[in-house]
Amino acid sequence: MCEFCGDSQHAVQGSRRDFLRMGAFAALAPSMIGAALAADPPKPGAAPAQNAISPAEALKRLTEGNARYAANDPNERDFSSGRAARAQAQYPVAAILSCADSRVAPELVFDQAPGDLFVMRVAGNIVNRDLLASLEYGIHFLGAPLVMVLGHSNCGAVDAAIKVVKTNAALPGHLPELIRAIKPAVLVAQKTRQGDLLDNAIAENVRRQVAALKNSPPVVKKLYAGKKIDIVGAVYDLATGKVTRM
Ligand SMILES: [Zn+2]
Repeated sequence: MCEFCGDSQHAVQGSRRDFLRMGAFAALAPSMIGAALAADPPKPGAAPAQNAISPAEALKRLTEGNARYAANDPNERDFSSGRAARAQAQYPVAAILSCADSRVAPELVFDQAPGDLFVMRVAGNIVNRDLLASLEYGIHFLGAPLVMVLGHSNCGAVDAAIKVVKTNAALPGHLPELIRAIKPAVLVAQKTRQGDLLDNAIAENVRRQVAALKNSPPVVKKLYAGKKIDIVGAVYDLATGKVTRM
């Protein structure tokens, strides 16, 4: 039985998590994954993982990092430092679901170093199956204690969804699939009489994705219900550089 999500199919213990943290997961054939997961039990007295911190502590790091970024006072970084260790393992403190917008770069926005954030990006920061699978990897196997859905001001994807709702605008390629996922947030925001429709739809979209994640079985829902992780929403303001919790 898995210690995190309760699923008997992917029971994980310390050393097995370490194995996957090292990136070996991708190189394994499905038949080998079971064998890899059945590796040795954790060594007694082994040091806790670097990201074995509470969700609140992880959120504090992001909040403080964003304050540094917004004040244009980021930490000085030597990117070569720790590179060899990072090649062996990763210990992200947060998994971030962000928009693909070129102006929103979570590592910069939260002033975090390589290896600190497990970032998934898609226009409109929506949850789909591939992103959910990525997130499951980030929290289950890599041990990130915090999940954040990060929307942003002036989001083009949400704005496009508003145009589709209002004018029935036709979009090319696969964009309609993306818009379909954002549309429900626009419909809710349209009923809000106060504020700006785009801002309201951006906020509502973040709230909806957070709610969707909290109810995404088996891995995310179980970890959240068991208080192993927290899932929060936030919006990044392009003009000020500040991130506001929802
Ligand atoms: Zn966007």
